[in-house]
Amino acid sequence: MKENSAMQKLPPYLFARIEKKIEEAREKGIDIISLGIGDPDRPTPRHVIDRMAKAIENPANHQYPSSVGMLSFRQAVAGWFARRFGVQLDPRTEIVSLLGSKEGIAHIAFCFLDPGDVSLVPDPGYPVYSIGAILAGGEPYQMPLLESNGFLPRLEDIPEEKARRAKLLFLNYPNNPTGATADRDFFRKVIEFARQYDILVCHDHAYSEIAFDGIRPFSFLELEGAREVGIEFHSLSKTFNMTGWRIGWACGSPQAIEILARFKSNVDSGVFQAVQEAAIAALEGPQDCVEEMRQVYQERRDAVVQGLNRMGWNIKPPQGSIYVWAPVPKGYDSTSFAEMVLEKAGVVITPGIGYGSYGEGYFRIALTVEVDRIEEALQRMYQAIGTLEF
Ligand SMILES: *Cc1c(COP(=O)(O)O)cnc(C)c1O
Repeated sequence: MKENSAMQKLPPYLFARIEKKIEEAREKGIDIISLGIGDPDRPTPRHVIDRMAKAIENPANHQYPSSVGMLSFRQAVAGWFARRFGVQLDPRTEIVSLLGSKEGIAHIAFCFLDPGDVSLVPDPGYPVYSIGAILAGGEPYQMPLLESNGFLPRLEDIPEEKARRAKLLFLNYPNNPTGATADRDFFRKVIEFARQYDILVCHDHAYSEIAFDGIRPFSFLELEGAREVGIEFHSLSKTFNMTGWRIGWACGSPQAIEILARFKSNVDSGVFQAVQEAAIAALEGPQDCVEEMRQVYQERRDAVVQGLNRMGWNIKPPQGSIYVWAPVPKGYDSTSFAEMVLEKAGVVITPGIGYGSYGEGYFRIALTVEVDRIEEALQRMYQAIGTLEF
């Protein structure tokens, strides 16, 4: 048996070594605090679960759903989008349901890339952008996200030859892993760039509802011309603590949505309708759970930033997402630092190299444990390694 050349190119699982060490430590009975995985720890809101419990009783929901999603789900998305961003979407032509946004992010590459085509992806970034390109036979081009540029890519630095071959451009603000947000002027430049080179902009908006200090992220579809050149990926995973439910959507350019929906109708049969009904309850129901969630993450973020800064770091609080992105101290690379923190403090952090070569020199902390555990983790780090040099 021989895997194909795309599979051969897939990077080995970068966290495998760390995962092995976690296992070994747990076997020894060591209490591990994991700040590694970005999976919300709190439960899905009660009213969403109740709606699911009812919907599961309806035999009509036991049959194949449609891969574009129930019209009532797409209408609920359109309603939420209008209330939240002031953007009117046509539920019939401008929205498609996804089995979690990860599914759409991976599959969009199969819709737009031919061999030799380029997908412009942020580095550091969510690994699925470049993996989708590789699996589809395309070629990812990594756009560096540098701290000195607010973790925004510099479009003017993309080589002309790559831009000409590019079919897709991925962006994600609020950003995983850096926590950065972007302003409207940046996205206006993106739209201009996409027009110039005929590129589909794919904005991953998984953290649209998670920003702090009064920042309220906008949708890039609010901007003039966006709908002609782009789509936005949304997810209920982080907003409503629903990572296990597998539901999200893509919206924007009707042309791109039709193409993605046509692809999907040939490879999947959509989201379990009871889950779609639960998602309707989330989108149309009370939104105070979202505000509460924001406050929870902001408190945790502040605990992490204060704790790190007491140990010698000098980091600014991230503006959004559920992560703190910080440089590793002198004498370490991201992997050796993460291994040392795990061994000496029993705390799991993610090495930045896992998000691309420009993630080297950084590590990521996920804000997915309660404040008392965060404080304990930082206390243990302090005891294990003391104050640090940069
Ligand atoms: C969590 C996350 C997603 C959401 O994935 P789902 O498949 O919707 O659960 C998408 N993009 C980024 C950057 C994420 O961190």
